[in-house]
Amino acid sequence: MNIGFIGLGNMGGGMAANLVKAGHTVRAFDLAEDALARARAHGCETFATVREAVAGVDAVVSMLPNGAIVDAVYAKDVIGHAQASALLLDCSTIDVDTARKVASAAEAAGHAMVDAPVSGGIAAANGGTLTFMVGGTDAAFARAEPILAAMGKAVIHAGASGAGQAAKICNNMILGATMVATCEAFALALKLGLDPQTFYDISSKASGQSWSMTSYCPLPGVGPQSPADNDYQGGFTAALMLKDLKLALAAAASAGAQVPMGTRAEELYAAFAAAGNGGKDFSAIIKTL
Ligand code: NAD
Repeated sequence: MNIGFIGLGNMGGGMAANLVKAGHTVRAFDLAEDALARARAHGCETFATVREAVAGVDAVVSMLPNGAIVDAVYAKDVIGHAQASALLLDCSTIDVDTARKVASAAEAAGHAMVDAPVSGGIAAANGGTLTFMVGGTDAAFARAEPILAAMGKAVIHAGASGAGQAAKICNNMILGATMVATCEAFALALKLGLDPQTFYDISSKASGQSWSMTSYCPLPGVGPQSPADNDYQGGFTAALMLKDLKLALAAAASAGAQVPMGTRAEELYAAFAAAGNGGKDFSAIIKTL
């Protein structure tokens, strides 16, 4: 298949390389020359504009920073420039309303489009082990699944357009809140004189268990290897957690939902990032508790 790929950053670079490995011809574009050079080294053809990259392709995949950029790139250079038969897949994490708006403009121009945000970080993007949460029609999902499967270990149809983004931000709102709850429980356990490993052994088998505790323990030397064991480097940054919490709060406001725990987690991560910690792994918030 000929696939246009837009956005070859930390995530998109590895994803495009995995499409090449799966036998696809990848026509790639990014604003950054170093990203284009890395894509060429992984076997992509690179182009000077989005319009050239998407000319004549069977599918377009994008992995861009935010909703405003996704909206602008699709409106200006993809819709009306890629052939109408091209399937459009946006894998960026963006707000539900923009995802639905872009998909409906694409559909009006004859394209099938899915939102397909990912769970899993840079290592999963490079290793082809991402989980995709997909929003779109049954027919669009059926076309998208084999393309996404070349970049991931799981491809799940979440529902209609926007449902992939909805699942992603609801999931990450749980993650932000449970990470803060796990951090403050460890901090309290230490102050109460509990041995942290003993507390982990108990709580990881009791009702306080969560992914934040047993897969990503925020305390060094406790539980499985996690960014805490690497001075809170190389995981999921606090800045990206804050981005996802802001998207969750915006969706909650738009849907009229109460999200008191998500709101508090957003306040804590906003303060943490404002203090210069945005580049650290999000579990480093334990240092403030
Ligand atoms: P990144 O900043 O490393 O990459 C984004 C790329 O998009 C950059 O190379 C940039 O040059 C390019 N870009 C920006 N504007 C462009 C435009 N108009 N046209 C073409 N290219 C443009 O970001 P990332 O970490 O790869 O994240 C990409 C998306 O994946 C985000 O939506 C993020 O929330 C999501 N995500 C990231 C992670 C992670 O761990 N990094 C995990 C899950 C989801």
